Amino acid sequence: MRIVYCHSCGAVSTNTFGENDVCTSCGSHAERMDYHRPWQYWASSAILLAAAVVFVWAPLDVTARAVIFIGVLIVSVMLSNWGMQNTRRRVLAEVARRKAAEEKA
Ligand SMILES: [Zn+2]
Repeated sequence: MRIVYCHSCGAVSTNTFGENDVCTSCGSHAERMDYHRPWQYWASSAILLAAAVVFVWAPLDVTARAVIFIGVLIVSVMLSNWGMQNTRRRVLAEVARRKAAEEKA
């Protein structure tokens, strides 16, 4: 996923890889925003990996597997939502900073 900022209309769009860097609101060229994956993304990946290892190696019955699976699913969804919110907040703060700089210029 990529985040782009449109200088023409000020919209922030998310594009998938392979798409051109264009604004989804007005279609003009948009600038790509750099962002780092939040720690929640890595934590979520680590939990999924750990769960996969447990599933392969631990001698668990079906009920225990189901409980672990559902728990891991809930935790990783919560972490990725949290991470997305943080990323969104950071990008919007960066956009606000750029807009202020453009208005001054
Ligand atoms: Zn636009």
